[in-house]
Amino acid sequence: MTTLTEPVAPTRVPILELIDVHAAYGRIEVLRGVDLVVPRGAVMALLGANGAGKTTLLRVVSGLMAPTEGHVHLGGVHVNDASPDELTRAGLTMVPEGRGVFPNLSVEENLWVSSYSGQPVERILTEAYTRFPRLKERRRQLAGSLSGGEQQMLSLARALASHPSLLLLDELSMGLAPLIVESLYDSVAEIAEQGVSILVVEQFASSALRVADYAAVMQGGRIVDSGEPGEISDRLSELYFGGSE
Ligand code: ATP
Repeated sequence: MTTLTEPVAPTRVPILELIDVHAAYGRIEVLRGVDLVVPRGAVMALLGANGAGKTTLLRVVSGLMAPTEGHVHLGGVHVNDASPDELTRAGLTMVPEGRGVFPNLSVEENLWVSSYSGQPVERILTEAYTRFPRLKERRRQLAGSLSGGEQQMLSLARALASHPSLLLLDELSMGLAPLIVESLYDSVAEIAEQGVSILVVEQFASSALRVADYAAVMQGGRIVDSGEPGEISDRLSELYFGGSE
């Protein structure tokens, strides 16, 4: 049996695999047998209506919540019992819903804090400002006073500081204007081109589907459909928008 610290990862092993995963809040089961494969290097969009279980799935994958049944494999390694820290060291990073920034720290201080990941601060700043020049312009501003889109840029920059191999994104578009969402998803596509695998959760599908290689739809704690973005978007309205999209 391999451990988290051993270099495994032959390229054909999926970066993430969930097999019959169940999870519950107390006695209420919210994940009810999730099977999902994210191939290495792919962008997978995980779609589904409010309450379908998408955030819970990300919490299980990132070690914040233990599955009650089933298996979670990261790069071929069984990680059901791994802590969030161990998973971060193994290459997994999550951008939580509602933006992972410290509002009372400046942009630059938020990036400094990311150096706990072991990367040198100068490198983190250079990479962040190259990817998001807007953050450089605002580097002395408190993160809490940035626009929503700028806060998401900062969350992404912080998440990328540890050079993850798998990035989990929860509702990147939450509360943002469509043009801002489009530009954030352009950044997601660029990050993917640089070799990072991405699992992105969205309630509203179109931006995520534009950059995704694959998509899966959750309903009632299970994956009820999956395939290429074109196929999924054709079937999506019947699946959970009741024909409204
Ligand atoms: P949303 O877009 O609202 O975040 P989601 O698909 O991400 O939806 P989850 O947040 O995973 O769904 O929630 C799935 C179900 O679990 C919902 O019925 C929700 O009410 C319930 N739930 C979520 N968090 C908790 C909690 N901390 N305690 C109890 N039940 C919870």
